Amino acid sequence: MRLDKFICRSTALDRTQARATITAGQVYVNNIVITDIAKQVHENNQITLEGQPLVARPARYLMFNKPAGTLCSHKDGAYPSIFNWLTMDESAELHLVGRLDADTTGLVLLTDDGHWSYQLTHPNYGCSKTYRVQLRDPLAANTAQVFSQGLTLQGETKLTLPAQLQQVGAKEVRLTITEGRFHQVKRMFAAVGNKVVSLHREQIGKICLDVPVGKWRYLTQDEINNDS
Ligand code: URA
Repeated sequence: MRLDKFICRSTALDRTQARATITAGQVYVNNIVITDIAKQVHENNQITLEGQPLVARPARYLMFNKPAGTLCSHKDGAYPSIFNWLTMDESAELHLVGRLDADTTGLVLLTDDGHWSYQLTHPNYGCSKTYRVQLRDPLAANTAQVFSQGLTLQGETKLTLPAQLQQVGAKEVRLTITEGRFHQVKRMFAAVGNKVVSLHREQIGKICLDVPVGKWRYLTQDEINNDS
């Protein structure tokens, strides 16, 4: 991880303070002073601040049940940020593993482990995301087939990857996709002449949402491994 991140993870300093201590020459890696805030370091490096050895806190992984009308962003805007709901220490050090629209509810993952979030979000890894979708119009008979073959979203040329559709009611479905294009689910239904009325994410890979709206919990080791 980057040296400035390591300092944040091993002290009470925030990112700005950590960078200031590094550029001031107070941080040593394996007995050599390092002033490059972006230097890559590993847990087996010996890192000291003003002579004191540092040990990084373990990475954090958690799920949150996003309420409608909250933003997946640190910024204050028209809607409150989901970070207002996160009660753990140093929540600003966490980043989102993929975003949901303001009106979408459900499963959001947060972590400070960039490698883990990359594996869950990069299309090459094919991690599935399952949404419960309420539709304006009854589901057309051929939609499951169209989605499984892939379709072209408005303004794009590349077909969507095969998606799995399960009908739950006349106007309600469960949709599983393995990419995260901008407004993907809404645009997929728009492409077949329907409209998403409400959208709720239930699952990412093997991780199923099981906390009430507005609550969070740390993931289990099996969930972090995403293979149980
Ligand atoms: N697809 C959408 O259209 N919106 C979301 O929030 C997530 C997936």
